[in-house]
Amino acid sequence: MEYVKLGRSGLEVSRLCFGGLTVGPLQADLPVEEGAEVMLEAFNRGINFIDTAELYGTYPHIRRAIKKAKGEVVVATKTYAYDREGAVRSVEKARTALDRDVVDIFMLHEQESALTLKGHREALEYLLECKAKGIVRAVGVSMHHIAAVEAVCRMDEIDVIHPIVNYKGLGIVDGTIEQMLKAIRRAHERGIGVYAMKPLGGGNLIRHVEQCLDYVLSIPFIDSVALGMQSAEEVVANIHYIEGKEVDHLITQRLKNKKRTLHIEDWCEGCGTCLTACAHQALYMEGNKLRVQNEKCILCGYCGSRCRHFAIKVV
Ligand code: SF4
Ligand code: SF4
Repeated sequence: MEYVKLGRSGLEVSRLCFGGLTVGPLQADLPVEEGAEVMLEAFNRGINFIDTAELYGTYPHIRRAIKKAKGEVVVATKTYAYDREGAVRSVEKARTALDRDVVDIFMLHEQESALTLKGHREALEYLLECKAKGIVRAVGVSMHHIAAVEAVCRMDEIDVIHPIVNYKGLGIVDGTIEQMLKAIRRAHERGIGVYAMKPLGGGNLIRHVEQCLDYVLSIPFIDSVALGMQSAEEVVANIHYIEGKEVDHLITQRLKNKKRTLHIEDWCEGCGTCLTACAHQALYMEGNKLRVQNEKCILCGYCGSRCRHFAIKVV
């Protein structure tokens, strides 16, 4: 496994980052022990970097895996907090749930523009305070919007960004993949560490996994790539692929044939609460029925976090 410095954060991370969303309750919903074993497989095979968020519900899995891991693991998490109080809660929740005094990377989740960053200024100030105290090592921003990358380039405080990147530009809300890469290059030149998200377009491009990985790993200003993995065999296949080793053909086929979809249960009440969770406007109401526009959905599962009836889920 190759390791790189994540920009000015100074953190040394593996080129492949474990994308923590997919094992958690918003997607595969693996029991804690099982999810932790998948993570541990990755850690013991050289991945030393894991991405999660308060929203994902995977702190217990990560806590268990990092306790058993042979080496140190860099943990990146995210908060939707916009004010100081919310940020205090998020940082303390992460430190307690992960059983770590220090969280390596703390990010503002899903920022859209200079305007949303302004609206989250209090939370950002608190994260910067935590960095000054040594409770957080680096402060970052995650985004599906090019405008947010451009806004971060005009700020001095952000160490790391986590933008969406895949060869088709799936999930980029305000432009093309070329425009996104132009903005990311500028961020990288300013010393900001870059780790990309959703190289497979949230699983939509799984049939072209090799092309997806080759594309994102060949971009010289992307330091690391977060890839969701749900089983030990998927971990092994991905690591073998990026290390140029032979990958078991049957495993690759099985993974490619795994169909993922957004499922709305019969018991959905059509309340519409989940609509606001979708930055991609993939959900809409038809009368009192909730519908999804599959061509817009990147299978992130965020909508599931808003439904108290557990009526929508990526399966
Ligand atoms: S999935 Fe849940 S939140 Fe969304 S409309 Fe149905 S009941 Fe409401
Ligand atoms: S509909 Fe749900 S899973 Fe699809 S992009 Fe929107 S939030 Fe993500």
